[in-house]
Amino acid sequence: MTVIDVRGTTALKLRRRDGDLRGAQSADFAARARVVAADAAASAAAVDADARFPEEAITAARAQRLLGVLVPRDLGGEGASISEVADICYRLGQACASTAMIYAMHQTKVACLVRHGRGSAWHEHLLRRLCAEQLLLASSTTEGQGGGNIRSSAAAVEYEGPRISLERNATVISYGAQADGIVTIARRSSDASNSDQVLVAFLRQNYSLEPVLAWDTLGMRGTCSAGFRLRASGVAGQILPQPYDRIHAQTMTPVAHLTWASVWTGIAAAAVERAQSFTRKAARQANGQLPPGAAHFTKAHSSLQMLRSLVAGSLQRYERASCDERALASLDFQTAINLVKVDASELAVAAVMSALRACGLSGYRNDSEFGLGRQLRDVLSSPIMINNDRILANVGAASLMSAVPASLTE
Ligand SMILES: Cc1cc2nc3c(=O)[nH]c(=O)nc-3n(C[C@H](O)[C@H](O)[C@H](O)COP(=O)(O)OP(=O)(O)OC[C@H]3O[C@@H](n4cnc5c(N)ncnc54)[C@H](O)[C@@H]3O)c2cc1C
Repeated sequence: MTVIDVRGTTALKLRRRDGDLRGAQSADFAARARVVAADAAASAAAVDADARFPEEAITAARAQRLLGVLVPRDLGGEGASISEVADICYRLGQACASTAMIYAMHQTKVACLVRHGRGSAWHEHLLRRLCAEQLLLASSTTEGQGGGNIRSSAAAVEYEGPRISLERNATVISYGAQADGIVTIARRSSDASNSDQVLVAFLRQNYSLEPVLAWDTLGMRGTCSAGFRLRASGVAGQILPQPYDRIHAQTMTPVAHLTWASVWTGIAAAAVERAQSFTRKAARQANGQLPPGAAHFTKAHSSLQMLRSLVAGSLQRYERASCDERALASLDFQTAINLVKVDASELAVAAVMSALRACGLSGYRNDSEFGLGRQLRDVLSSPIMINNDRILANVGAASLMSAVPASLTE
């Protein structure tokens, strides 16, 4: 007599159904991202040449309701996973690096609000508004000449009864002037130490931005990452309830590094695609004879493969660990999630450089269908967007302590 394991079968069916639903949702996000990527690609050259905000692409992202996808359904969002958001960053990165980086930085802030603002009425209300109105959030971590030294703040939150205020020399805020709100770190109070920090969210009507530094750079020109003196005020409820050191380890660093790496992988993919079209065209025009730089195309392709595996593997590791605070806080995980930023940026630069070598002069020209100047200038921001040497110095001691893995996959 055959015993049917009803519970097992039902569970399997449910898992299949959930898998199908997730698959359908991912496909839907991808389709919407393609629409935005088309607009972003159409204006990418002008955004770069004029160092202007990619208005068309961000308007399209709002129209496709991509700004609130990470927010849980009960707060008006679509409950997207970090992997689904990273895939959107990758697709936008192929079209316009500035648009993609703006999207990545916005989603990093949303991830912090979603994970660490739960249960806070002010932040849950903000997340509902963000979905309903497709609000764009900017990030302020850099302060004065401190650059990427994020775990040390000078400016402090000042309290006056239930009201708070903050004045900060925010020397780099991407799309600061165009954003609907800013999420910033600060010292908990005027008597707190530099590393005793909080994360605070302010909406446009709560702050003023006095320009202090322009943004005239090699690449990422459309991120409009100018410097401002930020003067903000609000209520104490705008401070996220959890200490920043926990937010930094569990969400800010992992999501920033994974979404930035997805953008850089998109830039590399665009460069490899151009090198592929060039190599094919040159070979066709030479009766199948490959152009001199063809070996560089293979290298570019290989760097891209390594990059995609690195980012995909790191996304899986983060999503597996994300419900386990001990795993997220572990030396091993923190070292790995910091090194993914370093390795992804170096691999992305290598892929674009090899693609340029594969295309030769055609890649070097700005007026060629195979021109790679923009991709190269954009991707060169990656090793210094929080300097890789700063990160390596920070994880150096930690990686000395963490055990060499016993098994290949765990
Ligand atoms: C494309 C892009 C977008 C960014 N967007 C944002 C954003 O939205 N919000 C944000 O807060 N930050 C942003 N940043 C800044 C970033 O977070 C780091 O602060 C920045 O990359 C510097 O990192 P670093 O200090 O590790 O490296 P480096 O730039 O190599 O600086 C090293 C050290 O040199 C010193 N230094 C740097 N500049 C000077 C100077 N002019 N004069 C004297 N000493 C100096 C500082 O002590 C600094 O720590 C962005 C950076 C990039 C490249």
